[in-house]
Amino acid sequence: MSTYTDLMDFARQTEALAQISGRLGWDQQTVMPRGANAQRSEEMAALEDVLHARRTDPRLGEGLQQAEARDEVEAANLRELRRAYARHTKIPARLASELARITPLAQTAWEEARHAGDVAAFLPWLSQMIALRREEGQAIAEGGDPYDALMADYEPETDSATIAATFERMRPRLVALRAAILGADTPPALAGHFPQEAQLRLARRLAEHFGYDFTRGRIDLAVHPFSSGSGDDVRITTRVMVEDPFNCLYSTLHEVGHAAYEQGVDAAHLLTPIGRGVSMGVHESQSRIYENQLGRSRAFCHWLHGAMVQEFGALSVPDAEAFYAAANRVTQGYIRTEADEVQYNLHIMLRFDLERALIRGQLEARDLEEAWNTRFEADFGYPVDKPANGVLQDVHWSVGLFGYFPTYALGNIYAGCLYQSLSADLPDLAQDLARGEAVAATAWLRTRLQRFGALRGPRDTIAHACGFAPDEGPLMDYLEAKFSELYKL
Ligand code: ZN
Repeated sequence: MSTYTDLMDFARQTEALAQISGRLGWDQQTVMPRGANAQRSEEMAALEDVLHARRTDPRLGEGLQQAEARDEVEAANLRELRRAYARHTKIPARLASELARITPLAQTAWEEARHAGDVAAFLPWLSQMIALRREEGQAIAEGGDPYDALMADYEPETDSATIAATFERMRPRLVALRAAILGADTPPALAGHFPQEAQLRLARRLAEHFGYDFTRGRIDLAVHPFSSGSGDDVRITTRVMVEDPFNCLYSTLHEVGHAAYEQGVDAAHLLTPIGRGVSMGVHESQSRIYENQLGRSRAFCHWLHGAMVQEFGALSVPDAEAFYAAANRVTQGYIRTEADEVQYNLHIMLRFDLERALIRGQLEARDLEEAWNTRFEADFGYPVDKPANGVLQDVHWSVGLFGYFPTYALGNIYAGCLYQSLSADLPDLAQDLARGEAVAATAWLRTRLQRFGALRGPRDTIAHACGFAPDEGPLMDYLEAKFSELYKL
Protein backbone atom coordinates (compact mmCIF):
# COMPACT_ATOMS: atom_id res chain seq x y z
CA MET A 1 0.00 0.00 0.00
CA SER A 2 2.61 2.48 -1.03
CA THR A 3 0.53 4.76 -3.22
CA TYR A 4 -2.66 6.75 -2.82
CA THR A 5 -4.36 4.42 -5.34
CA ASP A 6 -3.43 1.32 -3.31
CA LEU A 7 -4.78 2.93 -0.16
CA MET A 8 -8.04 3.85 -1.85
CA ASP A 9 -8.52 0.36 -3.31
CA PHE A 10 -8.14 -1.07 0.17
CA ALA A 11 -10.43 1.57 1.70
CA ARG A 12 -13.14 0.97 -0.89
CA GLN A 13 -13.20 -2.75 -0.09
CA THR A 14 -13.40 -2.02 3.61
CA GLU A 15 -16.26 0.39 2.99
CA ALA A 16 -18.06 -2.20 0.86
CA LEU A 17 -17.87 -4.64 3.78
CA ALA A 18 -19.07 -1.92 6.16
CA GLN A 19 -22.06 -1.34 3.90
CA ILE A 20 -22.88 -5.06 4.16
CA SER A 21 -22.68 -4.85 7.93
CA GLY A 22 -25.06 -1.87 7.82
CA ARG A 23 -27.46 -3.80 5.62
CA LEU A 24 -27.49 -6.67 8.14
CA GLY A 25 -28.52 -4.05 10.70
CA TRP A 26 -31.30 -2.88 8.38
CA ASP A 27 -32.39 -6.49 7.93
CA GLN A 28 -32.48 -7.06 11.67
CA GLN A 29 -34.91 -4.20 12.16
CA THR A 30 -37.18 -4.89 9.19
CA VAL A 31 -37.55 -8.47 7.98
CA MET A 32 -35.24 -10.74 10.02
CA PRO A 33 -37.08 -13.67 11.65
CA ARG A 34 -37.13 -13.30 15.42
CA GLY A 35 -35.44 -16.67 15.97
CA ALA A 36 -32.36 -15.53 14.04
CA ASN A 37 -31.25 -13.13 16.77
CA ALA A 38 -28.46 -15.22 18.31
CA GLN A 39 -27.06 -16.30 14.95
CA ARG A 40 -27.19 -12.70 13.70
CA SER A 41 -25.20 -11.60 16.72
CA GLU A 42 -22.44 -14.06 15.74
CA GLU A 43 -22.58 -12.98 12.11
CA MET A 44 -22.23 -9.32 13.04
CA ALA A 45 -19.34 -10.06 15.39
CA ALA A 46 -17.56 -12.08 12.67
CA LEU A 47 -17.92 -9.25 10.19
CA GLU A 48 -16.80 -6.76 12.82
CA ASP A 49 -13.62 -8.82 13.37
CA VAL A 50 -12.82 -8.59 9.66
CA LEU A 51 -13.57 -4.86 9.59
CA HIS A 52 -11.50 -4.16 12.67
CA ALA A 53 -8.55 -6.10 11.28
CA ARG A 54 -8.72 -4.12 8.03
CA ARG A 55 -9.14 -0.78 9.77
CA THR A 56 -6.11 -1.41 11.98
CA ASP A 57 -3.94 -3.19 9.38
CA PRO A 58 -0.31 -2.05 9.93
CA ARG A 59 0.18 -1.83 6.15
CA LEU A 60 -2.60 0.76 6.11
CA GLY A 61 -0.78 2.70 8.84
CA GLU A 62 2.49 2.65 6.89
CA GLY A 63 0.76 3.67 3.67
CA LEU A 64 -0.95 6.58 5.41
CA GLN A 65 2.40 7.82 6.68
CA GLN A 66 3.85 7.89 3.17
CA ALA A 67 0.85 8.97 1.10
CA GLU A 68 0.69 12.52 -0.21
CA ALA A 69 -2.38 14.23 -1.61
CA ARG A 70 -2.31 15.91 -5.00
CA ASP A 71 -5.61 17.78 -4.65
CA GLU A 72 -8.43 18.72 -2.30
CA VAL A 73 -10.32 15.43 -2.72
CA GLU A 74 -7.27 13.29 -2.03
CA ALA A 75 -6.42 15.43 0.99
CA ALA A 76 -9.92 14.96 2.38
CA ASN A 77 -9.85 11.19 1.79
CA LEU A 78 -6.49 10.91 3.55
CA ARG A 79 -7.74 13.09 6.42
CA GLU A 80 -10.74 10.76 6.93
CA LEU A 81 -8.61 7.61 6.62
CA ARG A 82 -6.01 8.92 9.07
CA ARG A 83 -8.63 9.90 11.62
CA ALA A 84 -10.34 6.52 11.39
CA TYR A 85 -7.02 4.67 11.60
CA ALA A 86 -5.90 6.60 14.67
CA ARG A 87 -9.22 5.89 16.32
CA HIS A 88 -9.50 2.20 15.47
CA THR A 89 -5.93 1.32 16.44
CA LYS A 90 -6.67 2.55 19.95
CA ILE A 91 -9.62 0.16 20.36
CA PRO A 92 -8.57 -3.39 21.35
CA ALA A 93 -9.92 -6.05 18.94
CA ARG A 94 -11.51 -7.91 21.86
CA LEU A 95 -13.50 -4.80 22.79
CA ALA A 96 -14.70 -4.13 19.24
CA SER A 97 -15.81 -7.73 18.86
CA GLU A 98 -17.51 -7.82 22.26
CA LEU A 99 -19.43 -4.62 21.46
CA ALA A 100 -20.58 -6.07 18.14
CA ARG A 101 -21.62 -9.30 19.85
CA ILE A 102 -23.71 -7.83 22.65
CA THR A 103 -25.31 -4.96 20.71
CA PRO A 104 -28.10 -6.96 19.02
CA LEU A 105 -28.73 -8.87 22.27
CA ALA A 106 -28.92 -5.67 24.33
CA GLN A 107 -31.24 -4.13 21.76
CA THR A 108 -33.63 -7.08 21.95
CA ALA A 109 -33.50 -6.93 25.77
CA TRP A 110 -34.34 -3.22 25.60
CA GLU A 111 -37.31 -3.87 23.26
CA GLU A 112 -38.70 -6.49 25.63
CA ALA A 113 -38.07 -4.39 28.75
CA ARG A 114 -39.71 -1.39 27.14
CA HIS A 115 -42.72 -3.44 26.15
CA ALA A 116 -43.04 -4.91 29.67
CA GLY A 117 -42.22 -1.62 31.42
CA ASP A 118 -39.49 -3.51 33.28
CA VAL A 119 -36.40 -1.32 33.76
CA ALA A 120 -34.73 -3.90 36.03
CA ALA A 121 -34.73 -6.51 33.24
CA PHE A 122 -32.72 -4.16 31.03
CA LEU A 123 -30.21 -3.05 33.69
CA PRO A 124 -27.67 -5.91 33.31
CA TRP A 125 -27.43 -5.20 29.56
CA LEU A 126 -27.23 -1.48 30.07
CA SER A 127 -24.49 -1.87 32.69
CA GLN A 128 -22.49 -4.06 30.31
CA MET A 129 -22.92 -1.62 27.46
CA ILE A 130 -21.89 1.34 29.60
CA ALA A 131 -18.82 -0.53 30.88
CA LEU A 132 -17.72 -1.41 27.34
CA ARG A 133 -18.26 2.09 26.00
CA ARG A 134 -16.51 3.67 29.00
CA GLU A 135 -13.58 1.41 28.27
CA GLU A 136 -13.65 2.37 24.61
CA GLY A 137 -13.90 6.09 25.40
CA GLN A 138 -10.96 5.85 27.78
CA ALA A 139 -8.88 3.91 25.26
CA ILE A 140 -9.46 6.53 22.58
CA ALA A 141 -9.18 9.56 24.87
CA GLU A 142 -5.79 8.46 26.28
CA GLY A 143 -6.26 10.44 29.48
CA GLY A 144 -8.73 12.95 28.00
CA ASP A 145 -12.50 12.98 28.43
CA PRO A 146 -13.99 9.58 27.43
CA TYR A 147 -17.35 11.15 26.57
CA ASP A 148 -15.73 13.62 24.18
CA ALA A 149 -13.84 10.73 22.61
CA LEU A 150 -17.08 8.84 21.95
CA MET A 151 -18.84 11.95 20.67
CA ALA A 152 -16.03 12.60 18.17
CA ASP A 153 -17.04 9.44 16.32
CA TYR A 154 -20.38 11.05 15.43
CA GLU A 155 -19.32 14.69 15.39
CA PRO A 156 -15.62 15.36 14.89
CA GLU A 157 -14.15 18.77 15.67
CA THR A 158 -16.39 19.61 18.62
CA ASP A 159 -16.42 18.78 22.34
CA SER A 160 -18.93 18.51 25.14
CA ALA A 161 -17.87 21.83 26.77
CA THR A 162 -18.80 23.67 23.55
CA ILE A 163 -22.10 21.78 23.37
CA ALA A 164 -22.85 22.52 27.04
CA ALA A 165 -22.18 26.24 26.53
CA THR A 166 -24.44 26.32 23.45
CA PHE A 167 -27.21 24.58 25.41
CA GLU A 168 -26.87 27.10 28.24
CA ARG A 169 -27.46 29.92 25.76
CA MET A 170 -30.46 28.16 24.17
CA ARG A 171 -32.22 26.93 27.29
CA PRO A 172 -33.59 30.24 28.69
CA ARG A 173 -34.99 31.28 25.30
CA LEU A 174 -36.60 27.85 24.74
CA VAL A 175 -38.07 27.73 28.24
CA ALA A 176 -39.49 31.27 27.90
CA LEU A 177 -40.97 30.48 24.47
CA ARG A 178 -42.53 27.25 25.72
CA ALA A 179 -44.03 28.99 28.77
CA ALA A 180 -45.61 31.66 26.56
CA ILE A 181 -46.99 29.03 24.16
CA LEU A 182 -48.42 26.80 26.90
CA GLY A 183 -50.08 29.90 28.39
CA ALA A 184 -51.90 30.57 25.09
CA ASP A 185 -54.82 28.68 23.51
CA THR A 186 -53.82 25.25 22.19
CA PRO A 187 -55.12 24.56 18.68
CA PRO A 188 -57.06 21.32 18.17
CA ALA A 189 -55.14 18.20 17.15
CA LEU A 190 -55.90 16.28 13.99
CA ALA A 191 -58.22 13.46 15.07
CA GLY A 192 -59.64 10.45 13.25
CA HIS A 193 -58.76 7.06 11.85
CA PHE A 194 -56.20 7.05 9.04
CA PRO A 195 -55.76 3.60 7.43
CA GLN A 196 -52.21 2.30 7.09
CA GLU A 197 -52.39 1.76 3.32
CA ALA A 198 -53.40 5.34 2.66
CA GLN A 199 -50.77 6.73 5.03
CA LEU A 200 -48.04 4.77 3.29
CA ARG A 201 -49.30 5.86 -0.14
CA LEU A 202 -49.11 9.50 0.93
CA ALA A 203 -45.73 8.98 2.60
CA ARG A 204 -44.34 7.64 -0.70
CA ARG A 205 -45.77 10.65 -2.49
CA LEU A 206 -44.07 13.02 -0.03
CA ALA A 207 -40.79 11.16 -0.48
CA GLU A 208 -41.09 11.61 -4.26
CA HIS A 209 -41.91 15.31 -3.94
CA PHE A 210 -38.77 15.76 -1.84
CA GLY A 211 -36.60 13.94 -4.39
CA TYR A 212 -36.08 10.50 -2.82
CA ASP A 213 -34.71 8.22 -5.57
CA PHE A 214 -36.70 4.98 -5.36
CA THR A 215 -34.47 3.33 -7.96
CA ARG A 216 -31.68 3.49 -5.35
CA GLY A 217 -33.79 3.11 -2.22
CA ARG A 218 -36.89 1.61 -0.65
CA ILE A 219 -39.24 2.28 2.25
CA ASP A 220 -40.09 -0.43 4.77
CA LEU A 221 -41.80 -0.55 8.14
CA ALA A 222 -39.81 -0.72 11.38
CA VAL A 223 -40.42 0.02 15.06
CA HIS A 224 -38.10 3.03 14.77
CA PRO A 225 -37.74 5.02 11.59
CA PHE A 226 -34.16 5.19 10.32
CA SER A 227 -32.09 5.61 7.18
CA SER A 228 -29.34 3.18 6.26
CA GLY A 229 -26.65 2.83 3.61
CA SER A 230 -25.06 5.24 1.20
CA GLY A 231 -24.47 5.75 -2.51
CA ASP A 232 -26.73 3.56 -4.64
CA ASP A 233 -28.49 1.66 -1.84
CA VAL A 234 -30.00 4.05 0.69
CA ARG A 235 -33.01 2.58 2.46
CA ILE A 236 -35.40 4.23 4.86
CA THR A 237 -38.01 2.92 7.24
CA THR A 238 -41.13 4.48 8.65
CA ARG A 239 -43.91 3.51 11.02
CA VAL A 240 -47.67 3.93 11.05
CA MET A 241 -50.01 4.92 13.84
CA VAL A 242 -53.56 4.85 12.54
CA GLU A 243 -54.67 7.68 14.80
CA ASP A 244 -51.68 9.96 14.14
CA PRO A 245 -50.78 10.34 10.45
CA PHE A 246 -48.22 13.07 11.23
CA ASN A 247 -46.04 10.42 12.86
CA CYS A 248 -45.65 8.49 9.61
CA LEU A 249 -45.56 11.49 7.26
CA TYR A 250 -43.01 13.55 9.17
CA SER A 251 -40.86 10.52 10.10
CA THR A 252 -40.74 9.74 6.40
CA LEU A 253 -39.77 13.30 5.45
CA HIS A 254 -37.11 13.23 8.16
CA GLU A 255 -35.56 10.02 6.84
CA VAL A 256 -35.85 11.27 3.26
CA GLY A 257 -33.65 14.18 4.36
CA HIS A 258 -31.01 11.76 5.65
CA ALA A 259 -31.30 9.66 2.51
CA ALA A 260 -31.06 12.71 0.24
CA TYR A 261 -27.66 13.49 1.72
CA GLU A 262 -26.36 9.96 1.04
CA GLN A 263 -27.99 9.71 -2.39
CA GLY A 264 -26.81 13.21 -3.24
CA VAL A 265 -23.07 12.73 -2.77
CA ASP A 266 -21.21 12.92 -6.12
CA ALA A 267 -20.97 9.45 -7.70
CA ALA A 268 -17.21 9.90 -8.06
CA HIS A 269 -16.93 9.54 -4.26
CA LEU A 270 -18.88 6.23 -4.08
CA LEU A 271 -17.50 3.94 -1.33
CA THR A 272 -14.58 6.30 -0.66
CA PRO A 273 -13.98 7.80 2.79
CA ILE A 274 -15.63 11.10 1.79
CA GLY A 275 -18.52 9.41 -0.04
CA ARG A 276 -20.98 9.83 2.82
CA GLY A 277 -22.34 12.40 5.26
CA VAL A 278 -19.51 14.13 7.14
CA SER A 279 -21.07 13.93 10.62
CA MET A 280 -24.29 13.02 12.35
CA GLY A 281 -24.92 16.70 13.13
CA VAL A 282 -24.70 17.70 9.46
CA HIS A 283 -26.79 14.63 8.61
CA GLU A 284 -29.44 15.69 11.05
CA SER A 285 -29.46 19.20 9.57
CA GLN A 286 -30.70 17.64 6.33
CA SER A 287 -33.40 15.52 7.98
CA ARG A 288 -34.60 18.38 10.17
CA ILE A 289 -34.75 21.00 7.43
CA TYR A 290 -36.79 18.58 5.26
CA GLU A 291 -39.05 17.69 8.16
CA ASN A 292 -39.48 21.05 9.87
CA GLN A 293 -38.39 24.24 8.13
CA LEU A 294 -39.76 22.91 4.82
CA GLY A 295 -42.22 20.15 5.77
CA ARG A 296 -43.90 21.98 8.65
CA SER A 297 -43.93 25.36 6.91
CA ARG A 298 -47.26 27.10 6.45
CA ALA A 299 -47.01 26.85 2.66
CA PHE A 300 -46.28 23.13 2.57
CA CYS A 301 -48.89 22.37 5.25
CA HIS A 302 -51.50 24.11 3.11
CA TRP A 303 -50.64 21.78 0.22
CA LEU A 304 -50.50 18.73 2.51
CA HIS A 305 -53.93 19.62 3.85
CA GLY A 306 -55.34 19.29 0.33
CA ALA A 307 -53.46 16.05 -0.29
CA MET A 308 -54.82 14.56 2.94
CA VAL A 309 -58.41 15.54 2.21
CA GLN A 310 -57.96 13.80 -1.15
CA GLU A 311 -56.59 10.66 0.55
CA PHE A 312 -58.74 10.48 3.72
CA GLY A 313 -61.84 12.59 3.02
CA ALA A 314 -62.97 15.43 5.32
CA LEU A 315 -60.62 16.05 8.25
CA SER A 316 -61.38 16.99 11.85
CA VAL A 317 -59.79 20.44 11.40
CA PRO A 318 -61.86 23.01 9.49
CA ASP A 319 -59.31 24.42 7.03
CA ALA A 320 -55.69 24.56 5.84
CA GLU A 321 -54.69 27.13 8.44
CA ALA A 322 -56.05 24.96 11.29
CA PHE A 323 -54.20 22.05 9.72
CA TYR A 324 -50.94 24.06 9.82
CA ALA A 325 -51.59 24.79 13.52
CA ALA A 326 -52.28 21.09 14.20
CA ALA A 327 -49.01 20.06 12.52
CA ASN A 328 -47.11 22.50 14.76
CA ARG A 329 -48.99 21.88 17.98
CA VAL A 330 -47.01 22.39 21.21
CA THR A 331 -48.36 20.34 24.11
CA GLN A 332 -47.14 18.47 27.15
CA GLY A 333 -45.63 15.12 26.23
CA TYR A 334 -42.97 12.60 27.15
CA ILE A 335 -41.52 11.36 23.90
CA ARG A 336 -38.54 13.00 22.20
CA THR A 337 -39.36 11.73 18.71
CA GLU A 338 -42.88 13.16 18.94
CA ALA A 339 -41.76 16.48 20.40
CA ASP A 340 -42.49 19.76 18.64
CA GLU A 341 -39.69 21.99 17.37
CA VAL A 342 -39.70 24.10 20.55
CA GLN A 343 -39.38 21.34 23.12
CA TYR A 344 -37.23 18.93 21.13
CA ASN A 345 -33.91 20.44 22.18
CA LEU A 346 -34.94 20.36 25.86
CA HIS A 347 -35.27 16.57 25.49
CA ILE A 348 -31.74 16.46 24.07
CA MET A 349 -30.28 18.53 26.92
CA LEU A 350 -31.65 16.03 29.45
CA ARG A 351 -30.09 13.06 27.64
CA PHE A 352 -26.79 14.86 27.06
CA ASP A 353 -26.27 15.56 30.76
CA LEU A 354 -27.26 12.04 31.83
CA GLU A 355 -25.18 10.15 29.29
CA ARG A 356 -22.15 12.32 29.90
CA ALA A 357 -22.41 11.47 33.61
CA LEU A 358 -22.81 7.76 32.76
CA ILE A 359 -19.67 7.64 30.62
CA ARG A 360 -17.63 9.75 33.01
CA GLY A 361 -18.54 7.36 35.84
CA GLN A 362 -20.55 9.96 37.75
CA LEU A 363 -23.81 8.02 37.36
CA GLU A 364 -24.46 4.26 37.39
CA ALA A 365 -27.05 2.29 35.41
CA ARG A 366 -28.99 1.35 38.56
CA ASP A 367 -29.52 5.07 39.40
CA LEU A 368 -30.40 6.12 35.87
CA GLU A 369 -34.19 5.76 36.08
CA GLU A 370 -34.43 7.90 39.18
CA ALA A 371 -32.05 10.49 37.71
CA TRP A 372 -34.12 10.59 34.53
CA ASN A 373 -37.44 10.97 36.35
CA THR A 374 -36.14 13.70 38.66
CA ARG A 375 -34.61 15.64 35.80
CA PHE A 376 -37.66 15.23 33.56
CA GLU A 377 -40.00 16.63 36.19
CA ALA A 378 -37.65 19.56 36.83
CA ASP A 379 -37.38 20.35 33.11
CA PHE A 380 -40.94 19.65 31.97
CA GLY A 381 -43.00 20.26 35.09
CA TYR A 382 -44.80 16.89 35.35
CA PRO A 383 -43.72 13.39 36.37
CA VAL A 384 -42.92 10.48 34.04
CA ASP A 385 -45.87 8.06 34.12
CA LYS A 386 -44.16 4.85 32.87
CA PRO A 387 -40.67 3.72 31.77
CA ALA A 388 -41.66 3.51 28.09
CA ASN A 389 -42.36 7.24 28.33
CA GLY A 390 -39.16 7.81 30.28
CA VAL A 391 -35.80 6.16 30.47
CA LEU A 392 -36.73 3.26 28.16
CA GLN A 393 -38.10 5.37 25.31
CA ASP A 394 -34.98 5.68 23.13
CA VAL A 395 -33.08 2.83 21.47
CA HIS A 396 -29.71 4.64 21.59
CA TRP A 397 -28.20 3.53 24.88
CA SER A 398 -29.17 -0.12 24.27
CA VAL A 399 -27.02 -0.13 21.14
CA GLY A 400 -24.18 1.79 22.76
CA LEU A 401 -24.84 5.16 21.11
CA PHE A 402 -23.41 7.39 23.84
CA GLY A 403 -22.40 10.83 22.59
CA TYR A 404 -24.92 10.68 19.76
CA PHE A 405 -27.80 12.71 21.24
CA PRO A 406 -26.10 16.14 21.03
CA THR A 407 -25.82 15.71 17.25
CA TYR A 408 -29.62 16.01 17.05
CA ALA A 409 -29.47 19.48 18.58
CA LEU A 410 -26.51 20.40 16.38
CA GLY A 411 -28.59 19.29 13.41
CA ASN A 412 -31.37 21.67 14.44
CA ILE A 413 -28.85 24.48 14.83
CA TYR A 414 -27.30 23.80 11.43
CA ALA A 415 -30.76 23.49 9.84
CA GLY A 416 -31.59 26.95 11.22
CA CYS A 417 -28.49 28.40 9.53
CA LEU A 418 -29.14 26.63 6.23
CA TYR A 419 -32.76 27.70 6.16
CA GLN A 420 -31.87 31.34 6.72
CA SER A 421 -29.52 31.24 3.75
CA LEU A 422 -31.76 29.08 1.57
CA SER A 423 -34.82 31.31 2.02
CA ALA A 424 -32.77 34.41 1.19
CA ASP A 425 -31.61 32.74 -2.05
CA LEU A 426 -35.03 31.42 -3.07
CA PRO A 427 -37.64 34.19 -3.04
CA ASP A 428 -40.28 31.86 -4.55
CA LEU A 429 -39.84 29.15 -1.91
CA ALA A 430 -43.28 29.62 -0.31
CA GLN A 431 -45.08 29.53 -3.68
CA ASP A 432 -43.21 26.33 -4.61
CA LEU A 433 -44.02 24.64 -1.30
CA ALA A 434 -47.66 25.70 -1.54
CA ARG A 435 -47.79 23.57 -4.73
CA GLY A 436 -46.12 20.68 -2.91
CA GLU A 437 -42.91 21.37 -4.84
CA ALA A 438 -39.64 21.06 -2.92
CA VAL A 439 -37.40 20.80 -6.00
CA ALA A 440 -35.76 24.23 -5.73
CA ALA A 441 -35.06 23.81 -2.01
CA THR A 442 -33.71 20.28 -2.32
CA ALA A 443 -31.60 21.30 -5.34
CA TRP A 444 -30.13 24.17 -3.27
CA LEU A 445 -29.19 21.72 -0.52
CA ARG A 446 -27.76 19.22 -2.99
CA THR A 447 -25.66 21.85 -4.79
CA ARG A 448 -24.46 23.66 -1.70
CA LEU A 449 -23.96 20.75 0.65
CA GLN A 450 -25.01 17.17 -0.12
CA ARG A 451 -22.86 16.54 -3.19
CA PHE A 452 -19.63 17.23 -1.30
CA GLY A 453 -20.10 14.39 1.20
CA ALA A 454 -17.29 14.63 3.74
CA LEU A 455 -15.01 16.81 1.60
CA ARG A 456 -14.95 19.44 4.36
CA GLY A 457 -15.23 19.12 8.14
CA PRO A 458 -18.71 19.51 9.70
CA ARG A 459 -18.66 23.22 10.55
CA ASP A 460 -16.89 24.08 7.29
CA THR A 461 -19.52 22.10 5.39
CA ILE A 462 -22.27 24.24 6.91
CA ALA A 463 -20.30 27.48 6.57
CA HIS A 464 -19.55 26.73 2.91
CA ALA A 465 -23.25 26.05 2.23
CA CYS A 466 -24.76 29.03 4.02
CA GLY A 467 -21.96 31.59 3.79
CA PHE A 468 -21.42 32.21 7.49
CA ALA A 469 -20.09 30.38 10.55
CA PRO A 470 -22.93 28.45 12.20
CA ASP A 471 -24.35 29.19 15.64
CA GLU A 472 -27.72 28.79 17.37
CA GLY A 473 -28.92 32.34 16.56
CA PRO A 474 -30.82 31.65 13.30
CA LEU A 475 -32.60 28.60 14.80
CA MET A 476 -33.72 30.52 17.88
CA ASP A 477 -34.87 33.51 15.79
CA TYR A 478 -36.79 31.19 13.47
CA LEU A 479 -38.52 29.38 16.36
CA GLU A 480 -39.48 32.60 18.12
CA ALA A 481 -40.82 34.19 14.94
CA LYS A 482 -42.75 31.09 13.79
CA PHE A 483 -44.37 30.22 17.11
CA SER A 484 -45.05 33.82 18.21
CA GLU A 485 -47.01 34.29 15.00
CA LEU A 486 -48.73 30.91 15.23
CA TYR A 487 -49.75 31.33 18.89
CA LYS A 488 -50.34 35.09 18.66
CA LEU A 489 -47.87 35.78 21.49
ZN1 ZN B 1 -32.39 11.84 12.15
